[in-house]
Amino acid sequence: MSPLLEHNADLSGLNTLGLPARATCLVRPQTLDELEQVLAERDPQAPVHVIGEGSNLVIQDDLPGLTIALALDGMIKVREDQEHVWVAAGAGVHWDDLVAWTVEQGWQGLENLSLIPGTAGAAPYQNIGAYGVELAQVLEQVTVMEIATGKVSHYSAQECDFAYRDSRFKGRDKGRFIITGIELKLNRQARCNISYGPLKQHFNDLPADAVTAAAVREQVIAIRQSKLPDPAVLANAGSFFKNPVVSAEKAQSLTAAFPQLVAYPQAEGVKLAAGWLIQAAGWKGKRLGPVGMHSEQALVLVNHGGATSIDVLALAAAVKQDVWQRFGVQLEQEPVVLP
Ligand SMILES: Cc1cc2nc3c(=O)[nH]c(=O)nc-3n(C[C@H](O)[C@H](O)[C@H](O)COP(=O)(O)OP(=O)(O)OC[C@H]3O[C@@H](n4cnc5c(N)ncnc54)[C@H](O)[C@@H]3O)c2cc1C
Repeated sequence: MSPLLEHNADLSGLNTLGLPARATCLVRPQTLDELEQVLAERDPQAPVHVIGEGSNLVIQDDLPGLTIALALDGMIKVREDQEHVWVAAGAGVHWDDLVAWTVEQGWQGLENLSLIPGTAGAAPYQNIGAYGVELAQVLEQVTVMEIATGKVSHYSAQECDFAYRDSRFKGRDKGRFIITGIELKLNRQARCNISYGPLKQHFNDLPADAVTAAAVREQVIAIRQSKLPDPAVLANAGSFFKNPVVSAEKAQSLTAAFPQLVAYPQAEGVKLAAGWLIQAAGWKGKRLGPVGMHSEQALVLVNHGGATSIDVLALAAAVKQDVWQRFGVQLEQEPVVLP
């Protein structure tokens, strides 16, 4: 049976920035067969948009054509050996349910990515990352359906072109595939990454065997809850800008002028804390009409109520321009603009 099509569907509850928008036609397939059928029966001339929980979106305008919000469910253990366990999840699974389930089983690998909003299917799209860990490090393969043909394929992590908040799905194959599921390779023994400052600090005084996936998850949740506004309370899309990577020379000249600058040397170049640049430019807690940069976390753009995409993009442009003028650093927006 074809899944129900909703016409002129309200998307304001389907994006965490709470922007008003409608989809000409919204569908929520629950199985691969339903998804295949939806693609086969669509108007091939009309655009297709794929959304998860809308936690990394700026919906700029009403979405024409077909909008697909995947509801493919299910989390299973696929196989295991002495050291590892492989788990698979449907694209519609709420990401943190997957993290919680794996940590409860005693498997290690996802704990640093606790509480990131969104779906499992969206996680490879921008290679989600937090507290020293990126999805790319634990991803075994991604299953996709090609929109044009309905063909199902699998891509290994190496084939996904993962980079900082980037992948082939956001780059060379943008708009080509629907991610229908992911498979992850986790550890059976704890080999937790506590390199992130506040995690290191917390576990420093504790015995080594206290560093379990469950304990790290608990700390990550506590840190996130103390630092990031909950979109259910104050609408936002998380970090609004990526941390820019600049040349070593540029970082050196900035550090000479601004000794407090927060910078992390990378294999290529130096990553700067976008939040520091925005705060130093005076935008922390500043409002432009119904939107503003959060008062505790300058990197997070918030909708205080009643904002449109015009308000959001105007504030983002003002922040970008100011940071460019003060520091000569180009900020790049993280959330995806649709349509
Ligand atoms: C409070 C807050 C904190 C956050 N913290 C972090 C963080 O620490 N680290 C981090 O990396 N991100 C973070 N984010 C961003 C966001 O949670 C992630 O990018 C998440 O993966 C988005 O999932 P989603 O289901 O909401 O995707 P959406 O926002 O709905 O979509 C994002 C993009 O993915 C595409 N997409 C979604 N699903 C699919 C699919 N099945 N197939 C193909 N394309 C698809 C969409 O077309 C769109 O381009 C945060 C967001 C918020 C609101």
